[in-house]
Amino acid sequence: MSTQLKDLPVVVIGAGPVGLAAAAHLAGRGIPFTVLEAGDGPAASVRRWGHVRLFSPWRYNIDSAARRLLADAGWVEPDPEVLPTGAQLAEEYLQPLADLPALKPHVRYAAHVVAVTRLGVDRLRTAGRDTAPFLVRLADGDDVLARAVIDASGTWTNPNVLGASGIPARGEHTATAFVDRALPDVLGADRDRFAGRRTLVVGAGHSAANTLLSLAELAEQAPGTSVVWAIRSGSPGRTYGGEAADALPARGALGTRLREHVEAGTVELVTGFSIQSLTVTDGNQVVASDGTRPVTADRIVSATGFRPDHTVTGELRLDLDPILGSTRALAPLIDPNEHSCGTVPPHGVDELAHPEPGYYAVGVKSYGRAPTFLLATGYEQARSVVAALDGDWDAARDVQLDLPETGVCNSNPIIGETTIAGTGDGCCGPAPQQAAPAGRGLATGIAGGLLSTPLASLPVVNSGGEQSGGTCCG
Ligand SMILES: Cc1cc2nc3c(=O)[nH]c(=O)nc-3n(C[C@H](O)[C@H](O)[C@H](O)COP(=O)(O)OP(=O)(O)OC[C@H]3O[C@@H](n4cnc5c(N)ncnc54)[C@H](O)[C@@H]3O)c2cc1C
Repeated sequence: MSTQLKDLPVVVIGAGPVGLAAAAHLAGRGIPFTVLEAGDGPAASVRRWGHVRLFSPWRYNIDSAARRLLADAGWVEPDPEVLPTGAQLAEEYLQPLADLPALKPHVRYAAHVVAVTRLGVDRLRTAGRDTAPFLVRLADGDDVLARAVIDASGTWTNPNVLGASGIPARGEHTATAFVDRALPDVLGADRDRFAGRRTLVVGAGHSAANTLLSLAELAEQAPGTSVVWAIRSGSPGRTYGGEAADALPARGALGTRLREHVEAGTVELVTGFSIQSLTVTDGNQVVASDGTRPVTADRIVSATGFRPDHTVTGELRLDLDPILGSTRALAPLIDPNEHSCGTVPPHGVDELAHPEPGYYAVGVKSYGRAPTFLLATGYEQARSVVAALDGDWDAARDVQLDLPETGVCNSNPIIGETTIAGTGDGCCGPAPQQAAPAGRGLATGIAGGLLSTPLASLPVVNSGGEQSGGTCCG
């Protein structure tokens, strides 16, 4: 490493849970760093869904280095078994973390990163590449130089479209005024937009499930409120998930409650529905159509998932998986086309590395379009990457991960379902199955506790048959 490069800080993009975890690990190791956050405070994206309760309790939601720093400052950790809302995650954990003296001077707010490249070295040029500093450009025109970049900018700001082909459906732009993005506060601030109206919710992930349950509750309070739910799959089983078999009861209960509403008719389900067009009627309604079946509503909630924004890093040499947009090494471990439950073995710097040395995407962005991300996974990514940047390769490669099972861990797609990438389908938890690198532990759960188990000792579950599907995280 040249003297110049060595003396520069590590830049972390994003002060969300995983970006701040990376900052805590950097602070813990005494590595100079700067966090660049587009919002005017920490956890800007989490606060956007602050009214939603997480399904994982506090014990899974706090990073180890962050916990140490906070504990040293006298922070009282929340009850590990309680499920926080997004707002509580931000206020009770991420804000105090960002305000610690070890972090606060190094976090810049209103610092929107628009490009990351190498100083004087575009993507084509190889000579001098490894020793050239990263150049991180902000929206206000400021440039920040860095020895390495940890990109924890998430995917929240880049939602998928309603069009089933991955581009906007015909008419989608003209129907914008009728469409809410994922997770409107149906029972709170946004109530008036939905009360007494018919709402179409599109998507099969937890965001869709959350909104559907809120709308069903609103329908009990406000006469004239009705709910229709459209999914591309042939079956809602994946959204219902493991139900009582889920190691996270809140995640399981979400599926159970939704299934009950569908069975009771409170939520009208349309399966196999791939939106091709949206049309605004003279009567001020919007019609979504798959080419043959029109569904009319007053409003649409688009809960179709998120995708990473790779335009910011267009001048870097990234080897992206062509399906997910994660690294190629990570893709087979998380691809919802292959693993309905999301096989998530512990992984770190090796699986996150690109041909561009020193650039790592961590957190939910690292998963690309896969909807299977959990915070605990991102915290371990951050720990491993920071250890590698510190030259501590033993720690970087000693990856560990304990995650709760969904209760539906299987390796084959649901019979009768179409492909699920990009729909928000998928699930949040590990499956004991193939595709993990040899020699790595694989996270799994047992009744009353969680453990990391060597891959070789785990059975392959339901390797040849039908399955019920997993649940999703977004
Ligand atoms: C409704 C919902 C519920 C969830 N529930 C759970 C759960 O129960 N358990 C669980 O483990 N996971 C859950 N997840 C998944 C995941 O843990 C969260 O999405 C989590 O917020 C991801 O953290 P992150 O730090 O990777 O990204 P984010 O939280 O999205 O943070 C990214 C940050 O980067 C900033 N940023 C974005 N672009 C730029 C830019 N260009 N320049 C500078 N800054 C930028 C944003 O403002 C934001 O502050 C949930 C997700 C959602 C949406």
